[in-house]
Amino acid sequence: KESIMDGVNFEDEMSSEKPDDSTAKNALQKLQEERQTLPIYPYRDELLQAIHDHQVMVIVGETGSGKTTQIPQYLHEAGYTKHGLVGCTQPRRVAAMSVAARVSQEMGVKLGHEVGYSIRFEDCTSEKTILKYMTDGMLLREFLSEPDLASYSVIMVDEAHERTLSTDILFGLVKDITRFRKDLKLLISSATLDAEKFSDYFDSAPIFKIPGRRFPVTINFTKAPEADYIDAAIVTVLQIHVTQPPGDILVFLTGQEEIETIDEILKHRTRGLGTKIAELIICPIYANLPTELQAKIFEPTPDGARKVVLATNIAETSLTIDGIKYVVDPGFCKIKSYNPRTGMESLLINPISKASAMQRAGRSGRTGPGMCFRLYTAYNFQHDLDDNTVPEIQRTNLANVVLTLKSLGINDLVNFDFMDPPPSEALLKALEQLYALNALNSLGELTKTGRRMAEFPLDPMLSKTIVASEKYKCSEEAITIASMLSIGNSIFYRPKDKQVHADNARMNFHTGNVGDHIALLNVYNSWKETNYSTQWCYENYIQVRSMKRARDIRDQLEGLLERVEIEPTSNLSDLDAVKKAITSGFFHHSAKLQKTGAYKTVKNPQTVHIHPSSGLAEAKILNSLAISVLPRWVIYHELVLTTKEYMRQVTELKPDWLIEIAPHYYQMKDVEDASTTKMPRGKGLAAD
Ligand code: ADP
Ligand code: MG
Repeated sequence: KESIMDGVNFEDEMSSEKPDDSTAKNALQKLQEERQTLPIYPYRDELLQAIHDHQVMVIVGETGSGKTTQIPQYLHEAGYTKHGLVGCTQPRRVAAMSVAARVSQEMGVKLGHEVGYSIRFEDCTSEKTILKYMTDGMLLREFLSEPDLASYSVIMVDEAHERTLSTDILFGLVKDITRFRKDLKLLISSATLDAEKFSDYFDSAPIFKIPGRRFPVTINFTKAPEADYIDAAIVTVLQIHVTQPPGDILVFLTGQEEIETIDEILKHRTRGLGTKIAELIICPIYANLPTELQAKIFEPTPDGARKVVLATNIAETSLTIDGIKYVVDPGFCKIKSYNPRTGMESLLINPISKASAMQRAGRSGRTGPGMCFRLYTAYNFQHDLDDNTVPEIQRTNLANVVLTLKSLGINDLVNFDFMDPPPSEALLKALEQLYALNALNSLGELTKTGRRMAEFPLDPMLSKTIVASEKYKCSEEAITIASMLSIGNSIFYRPKDKQVHADNARMNFHTGNVGDHIALLNVYNSWKETNYSTQWCYENYIQVRSMKRARDIRDQLEGLLERVEIEPTSNLSDLDAVKKAITSGFFHHSAKLQKTGAYKTVKNPQTVHIHPSSGLAEAKILNSLAISVLPRWVIYHELVLTTKEYMRQVTELKPDWLIEIAPHYYQMKDVEDASTTKMPRGKGLAAD
């Protein structure tokens, strides 16, 4: 036998083990038995042999066949971890964490020891780690410190079919290193059958197919289109619960808000049904769900009860939940889209692709015959859905990736080996933006500023804010604001019965109409003054968990400041300095108040509004003078499109700053306050 095949033979080892009734041992043994029931198990040896024989391989298998959890373990058992790490990338951080947790259980080791994970701002690995699950974005960043990935013996780019931006860039980079690191094994694994494309790209790499075990799935379409898919989803879940035999339900939704809404309504309606019907256990799962609650979806459903999992796209292929018999598919997901002309990015609810619809349906037929309820018509499916989702690289802002590639010394981006190239307009826009941020010089080469920016795992505009804070002597404030912005929108909470209290508490941080960035700074600093008190968070309607995360992120950014040799300095007495640092990063995002009370973005004029969650919007409501209290000029963190195009996190700006800070981007005519010239209204926007 090949030496590589001398892995641990579980069956022998298990049977030779003395009976031991300690529960931990039994649990471990049970997990080992479960491993052997997975569809991939019969192909273990064949797969290892194929990996031994080929440097690059494409592996295809249905979701749940065991690719993510088993292949890295097989590789370890076969000795690949003796001379390097086995790294496995995931497009989603929840998946990286959850799978690592599962594998550490199966191996009977503590998470973070032999098996660990690495996601942005959270490194749960140690010296001992041999199997490392990580987001694709993290592996991309590892290239910065280790361009040949020398510490790895195997890289598995998992969920390749998702075609995230980072995965697509990784393809080009890992393909390149396999040419000069013949000892590196590269596995590209995917849940869908378009493997030919991966194989072609990787110089005709062989395809290893893991035959799935799929039971038939009955597909139901609605007879007529549904006006409100949320309502339709709720009704469908309740109908299944009341009329169908046992089996758990999986509902695909577009995001946290929708999930929380449905969670609440379902709880309310089932309460009304009384005790005659079985218990319905509701389990949400989405990216920002606290880790402790994520594990709940995997807990077995007690007899007599039924579980309903309310999930984002994460349950489409990234996570496998056992016991699902019914899938409810409203047919939508959130998709990022980018307009390279205006440079605006938005996250929109869009119809899914046919490929996604099939994947979703398949989730119901893993352990027995399943049923899928599509909340759209057969006609919609046939005629309105695209075959496949457009890869992210073709619909996103590329500034971040271009900065990373430039720091890796890859200058000729047009000839980079993209599997599907991005639109040249988007590439150009990214170069332009980085040039405007002074990260690149006029030859497109990385500047010192750009090199420093690349050290921060943040969007270039935020990293620029931090780098610029050196000049304004407010690096402490800049990293605080950056970490608070990185948390997203989960800092304040507003319980339904205490909204007024919550809003008042929130407005305390806005005293003086300082703007949302400074308000975030105030929140953090006040919390710090209480010595990070949990009680203080409760009293102020602030999520303590989010604050702790912000503190973690801040600690890391502080470390990075040192790395790029920026002194930690505080300039709290001069808030304009802080705002100028923000402007240095976000000058692209400026907007001017219109007579209507709406704003217009300064470059690429477009009508936008202050998001209702902004402290500035609140000031407008509290003050009956309305428009007169709104700042004339603002800078915003991001745009979100819901019913209108909204600016989220908004701060007042002095227009001269734009000229002072970005003279290459703004001319006097852009910021002349007296200008009363009517600009054409933005096209296709909701009326204001
Ligand atoms: P694939 O990557 O081929 O989709 P996985 O390796 O993710 O398959 O899953 C294999 C099995 O492991 C599935 O039956 C799944 O239910 C189980 N599993 C994966 N992650 C977890 C977890 N965090 N908790 C419990 N079971 C899990
Ligand atoms: Mg997987």
